[in-house]
Amino acid sequence: MNSADLDFDRKHLWHPYTSLTNPLPTYPVVAAKECQLELADGRKLVDGMSSWWAAIHGYNHPVLNKAAGDQLQKMSHVMFGGITHPPAVALGRQLVDITPDPLQRVFLADSGSVAVEVAIKMAVQYWFSRNQPEKNRMASIRGGYHGDTFAAMSVCDPVNGMHHLFQGALREQLFAPVPGLTPQDDWQESELDALETLLKNHQHELAALILEPVVQGAGGMRFYHPNYLSGAKALCEKYQVLLIADEIATGFGRTGKLFACEHAAICPDILCLGKALTGGYMTQAAVLTTTDVANTIGNGPAGGSFMHGPTFMGNPLACAVASASIEVLLSSNWQQRVAAIEQQLRDELAAARDLPAVADVRVFGAIGVMEMREPVDAASAQKFFVERGVWIRPFGKLVYLMPPFIIEPNELTQLTDAMLALARSS
Ligand code: PMP
Repeated sequence: MNSADLDFDRKHLWHPYTSLTNPLPTYPVVAAKECQLELADGRKLVDGMSSWWAAIHGYNHPVLNKAAGDQLQKMSHVMFGGITHPPAVALGRQLVDITPDPLQRVFLADSGSVAVEVAIKMAVQYWFSRNQPEKNRMASIRGGYHGDTFAAMSVCDPVNGMHHLFQGALREQLFAPVPGLTPQDDWQESELDALETLLKNHQHELAALILEPVVQGAGGMRFYHPNYLSGAKALCEKYQVLLIADEIATGFGRTGKLFACEHAAICPDILCLGKALTGGYMTQAAVLTTTDVANTIGNGPAGGSFMHGPTFMGNPLACAVASASIEVLLSSNWQQRVAAIEQQLRDELAAARDLPAVADVRVFGAIGVMEMREPVDAASAQKFFVERGVWIRPFGKLVYLMPPFIIEPNELTQLTDAMLALARSS
């Protein structure tokens, strides 16, 4: 890429959450392999982000490459309306197999945000089919993040989400406070009081409670007590509200369990998966639900159809890569790898705790977070990191790592060293 390409990019291409009048700098990446991104000038960066938490096996993986190549020779896409194909059936089987037993029905969606839209639609259509159309509102917990489309945005944290920009265009949902207890804290039942009050007072209008199990990701990188999750599940049953678990960020091993719901041994009514589903190769998501939810919708109005059907639903290329990614994960020693990453993050980030610019350090599974006292200037922090040969993208006050599971200890040390250096220079 030459300077004309970069100039075109700056003038014409929107990047995530940036302005076209005052864009942040972008770094040209021309190739990626294992845990390294290669810049156009030949420099290599150790990747601490897994491309927003998706590339769990690293980049350019031979098995995933082969799955994509083989499928490409057959067909890259065919409509899913009235047609099915082997990659969709194979992936559906795997998803039903590896998730809790009650989750038997699968909807293949195009992205995480769309999966959340689909899950919300399912919950609303479920109550509509039960002749309770007034149960169409959502509850969530503050500090959450569920995506950028409208229904997904409406259940993101109402303060640090984007609600203020879209007031009037967004459905107003109901929020319980951010859980206060971390997984290390002693459990107290009172932690669930506010959620219980909310569900009790609004059960007549609530379709579902949506939450990210145990790890709140883009809404603040917080970890909460698994008993909160099991308590939330029990309260949903008590007050007849469906539970949607958004495992788009936590699914496929990131927290040390295959799915974060396992920390609380619960099964949601609806489960959203995305990101690492395809090993970070391409966009695809999945929504799983129970036979009860599917049959209730199936016996309802609209001829029992569930009213969603995107053009690229069940894309064969994405299904083939997702299947290969799940096989690679399950046949690897991912539990040991995630546990080793967790231990190394704990050991190496501990020193940041004593630095004046650092407010908190927390680690859970293969996720390491350094929360600063002040917001980090993204452009200068990114330059700082690139100069040190690492790729870390902070947001707000948070500097964090979610590396590929295949990262080598010395590469991880390069990442944590760079974080400590940033904190020392702040
Ligand atoms: N839910 C969660 C928990 C997420 O972390 C994200 C993405 N960061 C989404 C939903 C949205 O996914 P996508 O960006 O693929 O639309």
